[in-house]
Amino acid sequence: MTATHEVFNQAEPLTDRDLLGSDRALQDTLRHLAPALDQAPLQALGRQWGRAAMQEHARLAHLHRPILLTHSPQGRRLDRVDFHPSYHVLMQAAIGAGLHGGAWQDAAPHAHLRRAAGFMMFTQLDPAILCPVSMSYAVMPALAGNPAIARDWAAGLGSRTYDPELKAWPLKAGLTMGMGMTEKQGGSDVRANTTRAEPDGHDAWGQRLRLTGHKWFFSAPMCDAFLVLAQAPAGLSCLFLPRVLPDCQLNGLRIERLKDKLGNHANASSEVEFEQAQAWLVGEEGRGVSQILEMGALTRLDCALGTAGLMRAALSLALNHTRQRQAFGKALIDQPLMKQVLADLALESQAATALALRLAHAVDQSDQPQEAQLARLLTPIAKFWICKRGSAFAQEAMECLGGNGYVEEGGQGLMARIYREMPLNSIWEGAGNIMALDLLRGLRQGAALACLQRELAPALGRHAALDRAMSRLPVMLQEMATPDQARRLAQELALLLQAGLLTQIAPPALWQAFCESRLDGQGGLTFGMLGPRADVDAILALA
Ligand SMILES: Cc1cc2nc3c(=O)[nH]c(=O)nc-3n(C[C@H](O)[C@H](O)[C@H](O)COP(=O)(O)OP(=O)(O)OC[C@H]3O[C@@H](n4cnc5c(N)ncnc54)[C@H](O)[C@@H]3O)c2cc1C
Repeated sequence: MTATHEVFNQAEPLTDRDLLGSDRALQDTLRHLAPALDQAPLQALGRQWGRAAMQEHARLAHLHRPILLTHSPQGRRLDRVDFHPSYHVLMQAAIGAGLHGGAWQDAAPHAHLRRAAGFMMFTQLDPAILCPVSMSYAVMPALAGNPAIARDWAAGLGSRTYDPELKAWPLKAGLTMGMGMTEKQGGSDVRANTTRAEPDGHDAWGQRLRLTGHKWFFSAPMCDAFLVLAQAPAGLSCLFLPRVLPDCQLNGLRIERLKDKLGNHANASSEVEFEQAQAWLVGEEGRGVSQILEMGALTRLDCALGTAGLMRAALSLALNHTRQRQAFGKALIDQPLMKQVLADLALESQAATALALRLAHAVDQSDQPQEAQLARLLTPIAKFWICKRGSAFAQEAMECLGGNGYVEEGGQGLMARIYREMPLNSIWEGAGNIMALDLLRGLRQGAALACLQRELAPALGRHAALDRAMSRLPVMLQEMATPDQARRLAQELALLLQAGLLTQIAPPALWQAFCESRLDGQGGLTFGMLGPRADVDAILALA
């Protein structure tokens, strides 16, 4: 047989997408948070990143994983990671759009919100290469702890040119940065770090130290510099570690091997050793954890944004498939039970979009005390809840595609990539428990109850279940703010805040179903159990 039988009832893949034009939830959220924001430049990026050619680059960057070259053929140390050309195309696209440090140099209002929307859309093309992009964005406030380095590096970190060459910073057209905290014996409890930092004099960048030790997870090792934690004489300190020293010599940073990861294949994550590596103090010696956590707070924002983006991508794939695939005499999307599943996923996706972007908006306005405090509280709430929901969401969206969802090939292969990526956003930058415990710390700072009540006030009176949940808030904060109940508290606050936002952003069909399923006990323990009152047709039309 040279020809196969007739092929029919197979869904055409989702290509040439308009990532913003097709995403009403994202448009509406941006319009609510920043009515004056011109969405046209984001529309253009969404169309560019949704193109089939860009999707092919993402596929290739994952297929051809990075390769570590420890030594040259002559036996000299190289410590270089080689990437497929498609990786570099994606990096240029993300950096060219200012998804890295660009927002810090953008004086226009809503710079961080605009960047956040771009980050969410790019995630739908490829989340993995965004790892160094996110770290280069997040590092700016922490780097300010050494004003001399911040002054020298700010322009390069904000440059829209991607320069992958290994050169000293003054010779580069653009710079990227990473972070190194996790060691073999501990990642969450970084106080257990054993890497030593010994004083080595002073120069134009301040106090210089020599590092000896290791990092067990060290992503994007081809970045130009890293913020790392190490034990200095006065205690755990935050240090700036460039890969190439100002005199153009390679620093003592040895890449031992690359991690063989479940997903996130386009991004290199490594194990490294420091051999008398030169580093400079950032912030106060002995106060390294709080210094580097200024960076961690923003990478946590990106975990929430990234997961919301991946949810939207998975939902789009599920809608695309179920609209085309017929089973039992109807398109799957018209089967009553499938409508339930898809509508429930759509609620979750829009709620994640709203909460993640609300956090980005708070970061934008953090010169106002209410917004700064809200950002402090929303960071662990959004990172915990959105990322926790991510894996269950991806599994359910995958199931909508049946067996085709589980294969790597073709357009559907994106679903497998999304599924493998989801747990990562939950683990790195502080796993679920760590986020829930961090929420407790945030609640102890300032008038947290008043801050949350102010945020929720515009939603008062919209839905009885929401009003009841709001009235329970003081008791909740009193009774559940203990380590053993911290996850529960984070979940309750996330749902309350999501419901409050949706009543202001989304049409009634959507927020009514959200309130009933998430706050009024009419939902289930898995997706697809909205109550009989839910207007699933209206929700699906919006999605
Ligand atoms: C692909 C990948 C890339 C990474 N890249 C980097 C990087 O570039 N730089 C970097 O520094 N790190 C990186 N990490 C490391 C990551 O941040 C850590 O793995 C993560 O913070 C968890 O630390 P751990 O692995 O040591 O686990 P542990 O700290 O041992 O935690 C294990 C579990 O215990 C829980 N736990 C910990 N303490 C408590 C407690 N007090 N109460 C209750 N539960 C608790 C945690 O929530 C977690 O679920 C990367 C990880 C991955 C998977």
